[in-house]
Formats: sequence, structure tokens, C-alpha cells
Amino acid sequence: NRVVRLARRPVGLVSNDDFIIADEPIPEPGEGEFRVRISCISLDPAMRGWMNAGKSYAPPISVGGIMRAFSAGEVEVSNHPLFKPGDKVTGLFGAQKYAVSNGQGALVVDTKNAPLERWIGGFGMPGTTAYFGLIDIGRPKKGETVVVSAAAGAVGSLVGQIAKIQGARAVGIAGGPEKCRIVTEEYGFDACVDYKAGNLGGELAAACPDGIDVYFENVGGEILDTVLPLMNTFGRIPLCGLISAYSATEPLPGPKNLRSILVNRLTVRGFVIFDFADRYEEAATALAMWAGEGRLKFREDVREGGIDAFPETLKLLYTGGNVGKLVLKV
Ligand code: NDP
Repeated sequence: NRVVRLARRPVGLVSNDDFIIADEPIPEPGEGEFRVRISCISLDPAMRGWMNAGKSYAPPISVGGIMRAFSAGEVEVSNHPLFKPGDKVTGLFGAQKYAVSNGQGALVVDTKNAPLERWIGGFGMPGTTAYFGLIDIGRPKKGETVVVSAAAGAVGSLVGQIAKIQGARAVGIAGGPEKCRIVTEEYGFDACVDYKAGNLGGELAAACPDGIDVYFENVGGEILDTVLPLMNTFGRIPLCGLISAYSATEPLPGPKNLRSILVNRLTVRGFVIFDFADRYEEAATALAMWAGEGRLKFREDVREGGIDAFPETLKLLYTGGNVGKLVLKV
């Protein structure tokens, strides 16, 4: 078994030396367990946080422990009544080639209509995050303006498309002209602003002539500060992620424009997708229905290279090197 383990707690951007990648015996499933042969691993921004010590929504990965990861593959051997050899499954199986599971959090998926990669992407955790963050916390109404950062990414691309399905106007923020083109032309957003072009405030104000009712936050930092003054009264900010701060080595300054939260009576609410665990079915049904109607476009950025490419592939998320859901084929 080829396995990625955490070698040490990283400082700043992840580096190859933060991981140990080694061959280990292939694990044997015990009573009530099955073994999955993993074929794709999901790379998620949250991984950087899981590598840190300290209080969070999930316990840190221990130094020496297997790198936590959503992954997908095929059941090879099973002593579990609900998982049969040949079943395609997803779950928190870790960054490795073979995993043993007792079925907790694992899901048998149908790959007839969607490739396995999509079950850890648009139909998996990122899609579910876009759905609940926008529908439950953002609560966009017809005609309102929804802005989302990291708009070309796994979560962001779906947030804008779901906003459109709800009858709202969707405006993205993304890095570079090519990503902005994809956001408008492929995902059908009404507009997209390139934050790297140097005039985010001006361009965003022009793209949102009626102000912003919902800001789906994936990035934080300066982008949040630029958006805050453009928010409308009683606007909502689902705080989904703060990727600009994940690799920071020092505490970052908070937003300067907090006054907008007061005078506009904004609701800012952080959430973690696991909060919605008892309603995953609802998101899965809606996403599958919209996809079936041709109203959702998905893009998986699938990288080759096997388990050993894990560190290099993970870095892409924090440098904007991915376009769409980042997946490593192993
Ligand atoms: P993406 O596919 O969006 O990839 C990450 C993207 O973030 C990059 O491509 C890059 O896009 C952008 N980015 C990286 N660094 C910066 C920076 N310093 N400033 C601005 N943009 C940056 O990842 P996901 O869709 O998987 O995740 C998006 C966000 O959602 C993350 O913050 C993640 O932590 C969060 N999330 C939260 C969950 C929850 O339960 N709360 C669950 C899942 C995800 P660009 O080139 O445009 O800069």
C-alpha cells in the first residue's frame, strides 16, 4: 500500500517535506469491514487546516498519521453486509492506495451518469457545501445579487449556478482572465471580476449596480474587505472558507470595514458542511435533478501522477493552479 503520512506540522505553504510517502502492507478487512482500492483522491483546501495543531471543527491529523482525505474507488474484499465487491464507493478513506473501512461515512455511488471524480466533487462534499451554504444561509431571492469568491473553483462554480437557478444574479470573483471567462461562458454567471487585475472594488461595484445581497465567502482577507462596503441592507454572508489565510504564518489583520455589518445589519454566519449531515439526501437529490436537466456544469481538474504526486498537487489549491474540482488519480 502506498500511503501519505504527515511528517510534521507545516509552516506556511505546504511543502513536500511535510509528508512521508512510503510502501506499507495492504490492510486486511476484519469482521464488518471492507477494503477499497482507491482510484481518485480529492484535494481540498481544508487539508491545510487539518494539518495544524489546535482547536478546530475536526481534530488535527496526528504527526505520523495518514493524511485525511475524501477519496473514491472500488470495493475489493468485503465482510460488510452493505458493501459488495465491485461497488464504487466514496468516503474519508485517506490519501493512500488501499483503505479498510467499517462503512461509516462511506457511500455506494452510481457511476453510470457521473464519473467517480464527480462523486467527490460536484455531487460530493464541495457540491453539498455550495448547496447548503447558499440555500440555507445565503437564502437568495429572485432578482437579488449573489457574489461568490473563488468562483472558478469546486464550490464557487456551483454557488453561482445554483444562485441562477434560484432566479438571482450571479457575479464571480476569480484570479485571472481565463478563469473569469470560464465563470461567465461555461458556468453562465452574469459577470466575473478578476481580483488580480488591480481594481476589484471599482469593477465589482460596476458589475453589481444594485449592490450585493449575498456574499458567499471562500477567500477572506482583502477581498472580504472590498466586498463589505458594497453589501445591501440585511445582506447575508455565508462564511464558507478563508483560503487566503490558510497558509499564513502570522495573525492577519481582520476586516477594516466592519462598520458595514452594523449599518447594513448584515448576517455573517460560518458553517461547516458536517453541520448538515442529516440533510445530505436533500442536496444530493437537488443537485442530481438540476444536473439531469442540464442546468449545472461541472469541471474536474484531474491530475495524474499517483500517490507520490500528492504534495505537489495539494499546493495548486493555495496558488490558484487548479481550475475546477482538483482530483488526483492514483
Ligand atoms: P477551489 O476549487 O475553489 O480551489 C481553491 C481556489 O482558491 C484556487 O483555485 C484560487 O482561485 C483560490 N485562492 C487560493 N488562494 C487564494 C488567495 N490568497 N486569494 C484569493 N483566492 C485564492 O477550492 P474549493 O472549491 O474546494 O474550496 C473553496 C473554499 O471553500 C475554500 O475556502 C474551502 O476551505 C471552503 N470549503 C468550506 C467547506 C465548509 O464546510 N465550510 C467545505 C468545502 C470547502 P483563484 O485562481 O481564483 O485565486
